[in-house]
Amino acid sequence: MSEFIPLSVPNFGPREAELAGEAITSGWVSTSGGKVTEFEEALARYLGMDRAVACNGGSSALHLAAMAAGITRGDEVIVPTLTFIAAVNPLTRYVGAEPIFIGCDDSLCIDPDAVEAFCRDHCELRDGKLYNKATGAHVKALEAVHVFGNMADMVRLTEIARRYGLILIEDATEALGTHYTDGPFAGKFAGTIGDIGCYSFNGNKIITTGAGGAVVSNHPDWAEHAKHLSTQAKADLLQFLHDEVGYNYRMTNVQACLGLAQLERLEGFIAHKKELYDHYVEKLDGVKGLRILPFRTEGIRPNRWFFSLYLKDSGLDRDTVIEKLQAQGIQTRPVWALIHEQADYPRNEAYGLDKALNYRRYIVNLPCSTNLSLADCERVCQAVLSL
Ligand SMILES: *Cc1c(COP(=O)(O)O)cnc(C)c1O
Repeated sequence: MSEFIPLSVPNFGPREAELAGEAITSGWVSTSGGKVTEFEEALARYLGMDRAVACNGGSSALHLAAMAAGITRGDEVIVPTLTFIAAVNPLTRYVGAEPIFIGCDDSLCIDPDAVEAFCRDHCELRDGKLYNKATGAHVKALEAVHVFGNMADMVRLTEIARRYGLILIEDATEALGTHYTDGPFAGKFAGTIGDIGCYSFNGNKIITTGAGGAVVSNHPDWAEHAKHLSTQAKADLLQFLHDEVGYNYRMTNVQACLGLAQLERLEGFIAHKKELYDHYVEKLDGVKGLRILPFRTEGIRPNRWFFSLYLKDSGLDRDTVIEKLQAQGIQTRPVWALIHEQADYPRNEAYGLDKALNYRRYIVNLPCSTNLSLADCERVCQAVLSL
């Protein structure tokens, strides 16, 4: 059998080995060492922000963002239901808050119409704060997740957040490099538009540090606070004085070296993703009722992190497709089970779910690694066409 084609794996080369090797030889392998700051500066420069705070995971980044934003026990946060669980847990249960779940639009990102309908029909504004009429709780924040590298509709979402007094948190863990090219946010990257934004450098993301993450904010004091919380909230380094409950969330120097090497290659990775995506579209879109879901590109440059084969009109069953491709050595997966149906979230409110339920049922994510060759991409296409 020909070689196994994984869904999404790291793309490391000599540059990563060289920089990480320097860290190891120097002995600076933990959270001290100059490379973490260097990585933060390089990332901030790429994103057009004054600073970035590096940490040890995207989930940690989101937890830090929730705390920096002041989300606390009893608050409610509007979140998407079609996303990875780590987009929701850190903003809600980790800090004692409750989620309100909202479905998606055709970009797979949170549906602005459904968010607006919830705020308008189920809440009331008092003194600039939004209260949920059913629970009496303060609805404090809104989370936009840039699913699969698509830009959520930030023009609508920022307007809704402003009108209803909501803090806008961006989960850009899948969307590093996605940016507006036109319109009111021209030049702005996913993650840099709302109050605070988060990135992940997990092994399956567009660039990786093995595990890692970062926070950026348009409130300099929030970014500072996130950094403080990520380093055990030390108020005095020598005397071990801590002024609040902090965490051991700092990125390591070795991870930062990997990140520096990967950042140099990011634009190349995004260009290759587009080549792969275009190949899938050319070979599969519109054939035998198959679709490759489009990314929003009007005034937007997406990073095209994950590709979605959409089976609705093909007569094919999602799980059978996944199984048959697996038998041919090709790894694919369904989109996430909806969060409002998981853990103890079914007792939380959920609105506007039709599209999320539909996409959950009919999407299969295809191999999309940045080191996937066009020949292997073609092998995936032929395998899909043979089903
Ligand atoms: C990957 C991911 C996270 C979590 O990042 P980790 O680095 O794995 O902790 C959060 N939200 C979304 C949408 C993700 O895809």
